Amino acid sequence: MCFLCDLKTSSESASAQLTSTAPTENRWHPRRGFLLAAGAAAAAPVLAQVDVGSASSVRTLVPAEQMEASAKQQYSQVLTEAKSKNALAPNDHPQLKRLHGIARRLIPFTAQWNPRVAEWRWEVNLIGSKQLNAWCMPGGKIAFYTGILDQLQLTDDEIAMIMGHEMAHALREHARERLAKSKVTSIGLSVASTLLGLGQLGDVAANLGTQLLTLKYSRDDETEADLVGLEIAARGGFWPEASVNLWKKMLGANGNGSPSFLSTHPSGSNRIQELQANLPKVQHLYEQAKQG
Ligand SMILES: [Zn+2]
Repeated sequence: MCFLCDLKTSSESASAQLTSTAPTENRWHPRRGFLLAAGAAAAAPVLAQVDVGSASSVRTLVPAEQMEASAKQQYSQVLTEAKSKNALAPNDHPQLKRLHGIARRLIPFTAQWNPRVAEWRWEVNLIGSKQLNAWCMPGGKIAFYTGILDQLQLTDDEIAMIMGHEMAHALREHARERLAKSKVTSIGLSVASTLLGLGQLGDVAANLGTQLLTLKYSRDDETEADLVGLEIAARGGFWPEASVNLWKKMLGANGNGSPSFLSTHPSGSNRIQELQANLPKVQHLYEQAKQG
């Protein structure tokens, strides 16, 4: 999964203190990092250029509303924990402003992939951690770790490819799909109670959150996220070939201790070839965006 693969480790390693200038009074608000209620209605209907088929139908076994409510709660917990360790970037942090600027260019092109986006409130936060990681929870709750920005020396185009990839996991509801499939194969108590409407809502949401942390994406999910993310980024005016450069960097970094990102996003050996094969499909979107 794109979620923190190990919450405990991440908090322990949140050693990159982001700011010593944070105000002592608690100005923090859970809605910080909020970008825009993604009506994103400005985006005209557009035809997808990459071919990823329809989203898995098994995912409908799990209510989307509950996934998103649970993710919202989980996201809030992550931010609170980071904040308590002085590892949550303030809104005026240059790297966070950079992330927000990139997100604003991508969000208008998300609605075509999932009508639920109309109800989402996208958020992007930056967490001080040496982990090479980034994720987007259901409902558009995004986090980047300073480790992935700093250690890979990411360009804006490369960041856009990661962000597009993470957004694509949420848009294609891969977490919901994983959870539904895990229910089909081995009915976890918390998931079953969710599906049957048992228990109190708070408990259900908490249990679901725990489930989320243990989920992993499949290689098919990864391919989908790569291609959908590539298209969203191209429409936002980001250089498509940066996707190939990004994965070369990521796989190179894998030799020096496995990035958290790759443990939750399994990489097929053909990942780069697949992206390269799809570059021609999105090149014109990039050129149009640059002209526009
Ligand atoms: Zn992924």
